[in-house]
Parts: sequence; C-alpha cells; structure tokens
Amino acid sequence: MREAASLILAAGGSEPEEARIVADHLVLANLSGHDSHGIGMLPAYERSLSNGTLHPNRTVELVRDDGAIMMFDGGMGYGQVVGREATAATIERCRSTGVVLASVRYCHHLGRIGTYGEQVADADLASIHFVNVVGHQALVAPYRGTDARYSTNPMCLALPGSDTQPPVLLDMATSRIAHGKARVAHNKGEEAPAGALIDHRGRQTLDPGVLFNQPVGALTSFGDHKGYGLAIFCELFGGMMSGGRTAQPEHGMEGSIINNMFMVVFDPERLIERSAMDHELAALVAHVKASPAADADEPVLVPGDPERAMRLERAEAIPVDTESWNQIVAAGERLGVAPAELEALAA
Ligand code: NAD
Repeated sequence: MREAASLILAAGGSEPEEARIVADHLVLANLSGHDSHGIGMLPAYERSLSNGTLHPNRTVELVRDDGAIMMFDGGMGYGQVVGREATAATIERCRSTGVVLASVRYCHHLGRIGTYGEQVADADLASIHFVNVVGHQALVAPYRGTDARYSTNPMCLALPGSDTQPPVLLDMATSRIAHGKARVAHNKGEEAPAGALIDHRGRQTLDPGVLFNQPVGALTSFGDHKGYGLAIFCELFGGMMSGGRTAQPEHGMEGSIINNMFMVVFDPERLIERSAMDHELAALVAHVKASPAADADEPVLVPGDPERAMRLERAEAIPVDTESWNQIVAAGERLGVAPAELEALAA
C-alpha cells in the first residue's frame, strides 16, 4: 500500500523522500483505523495538485523566531511534510526553553493530527494542538445553527508514556464524526451514527449522502455547545493566531484543504519528576480501567488505546472498500499511473 501511494505521489511531482513521508503517514492512518485520513485522501490531493493549490517539495519556512515563540509557514506544501518539519523544529527548541508555543499556517492537509502528538511524545515531551481547516466549503453547523459555517477542526493532546504505560494520545475532530468517516460510510453504502448529520433544513439524518449531494446538509459538533466551543478556539488559535485564516467568508475558497495548526510543546520534567509522572500516570490509568465495563466486550480504554489495538489487528492487511479504491486508481490514472500497476501492488 505504501508503494502504491508513493507511486501516485511521485507521479504528482513529489521527490522520492516526500512521497515516502506522505505515503507512510497515510498508511499509518489506515493502520490506526482512521481510513478517513489514509490513502483514501489521495483523490483529494490529486484535485489540489491539478488546481494548483498544493505544491510538492516545499519545506517549511520559519517566519518568526522569538525564543519560546515560533511561527512557521507551510507554503501550501504537503502538510505531512511541512507539519512534521515544524514539529521537529519546535521539539528541538523545547529542549532548551522547556516550553514552546508554535504555529504553522498554510499547510495543505496535515492528515492525522495524532501523528504530530506522537512525534512529540516520542521525544519525551507533551503537547496540545488546535487546528482549523479552511479553503473549501464549510462542513459543520454551529450549535443551534442549521447550515455549515466552519469545518471539522481537530484537536490533539499528547503525553509520553513509560516502560509500562504507552503514551496517552487524544486526537479528534470537533465534529461528531470526521468528514472522511462520512465519505467512507457513503462509499460503503452505510448509515452515519445518530446525531452526526443534519440535512439542508437542519433536521437530523443518518444519510451521509447529505454531504455529497445537493441540497447539502452539515455535520454537527460533538458534545453540543462544548465541542462547538472548542471548534471556535481551533479557529481562533489555529486559524487566527497562526496568521493563517479563519472560516469567515472574506477569505474565499479555492477548492483545496488548508490546515493551520497552533501547538504548545512542553517538557513535563520541568514540572514533575519523571519517576513521579510515570507512577501517577500508570496508577491513574489502572484506576479508571478498573471500572467494571457496562458491556463485557467493551472494557474501559484510555485515548490512544483503540489506535494501538487497530495497528496490531491490521498488521497483516488493511481493508479498502471498492469505491474508495476505484477513486484512488482513477486519481492515479489522471496523474499518469497505469491502473494495472496499482492493481498489481494492491494484490
Ligand atoms: P475518533 O472519534 O475515532 O477518536 C477520537 C479519540 O478518542 C482518539 O484519540 C481515540 O484514541 C479516542 N478514543 C476512541 N474510543 C475511545 C474509548 N472507548 N475510550 C477512550 N478513548 C477513546 O477520531 P475522529 O474524531 O473521528 O478523528 C479521526 C482522525 O481525523 C483524527 O486522527 C484527526 O486528527 C483527523 N482529522 C483531521 C483533520 C484535518 O483537517 N487534518 C480534520 C478532522 C479530523
């Protein structure tokens, strides 16, 4: 799957290293159970390449360097590349300052935001990420509203683990479901979860088709006014404070995917001794997991557990539905990749 994705990305103009980084990111999303952010995004990337809003082989630019404050500009390069570079530079600075507030604006789709939380946790640091999504039609209705005004604005919180407890990683859209999950459900002919969608009149519906057919409906926020409130802060911190843009209409839309990310990366050992942190984390996780499960088949988990379990489950093979695969092959073909070459790799 990595080879198939790399082939398509290289045909889109990426140097081999970039194609590898983006393909690895997408396949890791599939492995983690987030098909919405896996190789099924390739047709959207092909659209952005062909309308000139995604620029292969860009590197991130540091536009403001103020000690513990760093601002980056992604120049509409692949988010998986410029986001990774900005996070790496932030981690490096955090080694001396203990805390860094960083932003990176104008990234093409950053993909799975948990990837950046994992990058930070792997460096034994902790982080908070607020991200907004602009550049295309709005997807999410504000709480009490009936039409879409902004997008699925994701957030991520990450804390490093220890020898006995893996990192805790909360990585989520502020909509009840990610847009890509509605796309995958639509492609599979499945219903969306109750409460996740409204039609063009603002009535709740289970049909994911309301997002892909006219008249268009909208996604709803998770947790009513609370998820909506967090989404607004993704706009204000992620979009506005990064010097990127928010979802308000003065900025226009170019049929692309623009992510702006605000992050705080800090060294937990500047606050608490590592041995104390490891003990407290393990004890807290054990305490919450000891709650008797309401359903014996569904024990209590902590954020990050489902993705780890899915990586084991999918180690041998990643399922891809036919409609999504056909869309990927068609996108490859438009970039000059022979369908037979992709079919051979998929087999
Ligand atoms: P989700 O609802 O599947 O999971 C959200 C979080 O909840 C995860 O951290 C998961 O580990 C945790 N979780 C799930 N079940 C749990 C349980 N039983 N107990 C404890 N924790 C549990 O994720 P989502 O909201 O559908 O988002 C999917 C992906 O989409 C994310 O990776 C997100 O970054 C990505 N996304 C990206 C963009 C973008 O613009 N780049 C926009 C929206 C979403």
